[in-house]
Amino acid sequence: MMTNRPRGTNDILPGDVEKWQFIEKTAREVCRRFNTAEVRTPVFEHTELFARGVGETTDIVEKEMYTFQDRGERSLTLRPEGTASAVRAFVESKLYAQPQQPTKLFYIGPMFRYERPQSGRYRQFHQFGVEVLGASDPSVDAEVIALAMTFFTELGLNDITLEINSVGSPESRTNYRDVLRSHLHPVKEELCADCQSRYDRNPMRILDCKVDKCKTLTQGAPEMLDHLTDTDREHFQAVCSYLESFGINYTVNPRMVRGLDYYTQTAFEFIENGSTLSGGGRYNGLVEQLGGPEMPGIGFAVGIERALIALQNQQVELPIAKGIDVFFVALGEAAQQHSVKLLHEMRVAGIVADKDYLGKSMKAQMKAADRLSARQVVILGDDELAQGVANVKDMETGEQITVPLAELIEKVQSNM
Ligand code: ATP
Ligand code: MG
Repeated sequence: MMTNRPRGTNDILPGDVEKWQFIEKTAREVCRRFNTAEVRTPVFEHTELFARGVGETTDIVEKEMYTFQDRGERSLTLRPEGTASAVRAFVESKLYAQPQQPTKLFYIGPMFRYERPQSGRYRQFHQFGVEVLGASDPSVDAEVIALAMTFFTELGLNDITLEINSVGSPESRTNYRDVLRSHLHPVKEELCADCQSRYDRNPMRILDCKVDKCKTLTQGAPEMLDHLTDTDREHFQAVCSYLESFGINYTVNPRMVRGLDYYTQTAFEFIENGSTLSGGGRYNGLVEQLGGPEMPGIGFAVGIERALIALQNQQVELPIAKGIDVFFVALGEAAQQHSVKLLHEMRVAGIVADKDYLGKSMKAQMKAADRLSARQVVILGDDELAQGVANVKDMETGEQITVPLAELIEKVQSNM
């Protein structure tokens, strides 16, 4: 039906949206501690940016992009990920020329990929991502990983596995690709169709193939980690020892390649209950590729929907504020009318307050107060109004007092 939401998208309704707000707030707080500032970029970009930035041979560019022509016949694409946009903004606004480097950025927002929808996989989904541009030191890799881990811990998640690998610099890879191709050559025809095309274009991705046959055929294949240049090996070892010094556990997964073409050296994933929560890595050629100076970068992105699934799996109780401070029960016409003004004054004074709008009975209004978990109820009838007072009931203790209207706000606040 035309009036249903499009396949693979979600409405985030009251009751759930508070969880999103908590996740976003936690992301912002953790980024603040790491002195990482928010960047907001457009939801669509020139298609060219992703073709060049994400890589022509990636699943994203080959089959997942929402690409359209606008009325000016430009080819535009709804962003499938955040790194290319963040780097584009960094280059376009010449943030690289600012004196304080590296530039540490984060973003939170929707991403779009034409995928087969299933649990944890949508066509519009949301990512929180971090990009640090302009520093190649391995301590930065460790810091970025530590930021992600701190975020998970602050959310209340446990049992998150960190897998890490080095996919090497282009120098390491040229040599390794040849080694890998020669090793796989005898079984080339038996690989899946995708892997046969990867064989020439990007053979490392064969190691990451999810098809069982390919997994078997690549058993015992030579590993990138054994073919790193000295510089790449030392970088990887340094990242690992920083992580150890932080007390962050990790597993080296020599087969992890990651689906994006731009990664160099460090690549990592955070896994919860068999599903990938977050992926990231270093991308030392990307800034230059997108028209900027030769500047290194590293980042990660967390799927917020997947973080929510993890929170649910682990039955984490989120610290979400419930209830309201005051519910106004008004009876009689004059009291009803006056309560509108008093309610407004309370809100201006900072009190979270609500009332009945449907002319319900006293009993029904008290029920509404319960439903909204009101901590105090102000009861105002025409008689009380005539005397210039109201009754204030503390819903926790059941205690009720009579208060002059002139002191109502003060009294309510003193009991909050
Ligand atoms: P996957 O292997 O699950 O397809 P990916 O390698 O394509 O993930 P990245 O592009 O690295 O993922 O994105 C980082 C994170 O964004 C993922 O770990 C995941 O949490 C989330 N993510 C990616 N695609 C989707 C999607 N279609 N729906 C929901 N979350 C997603
Ligand atoms: Mg994917």
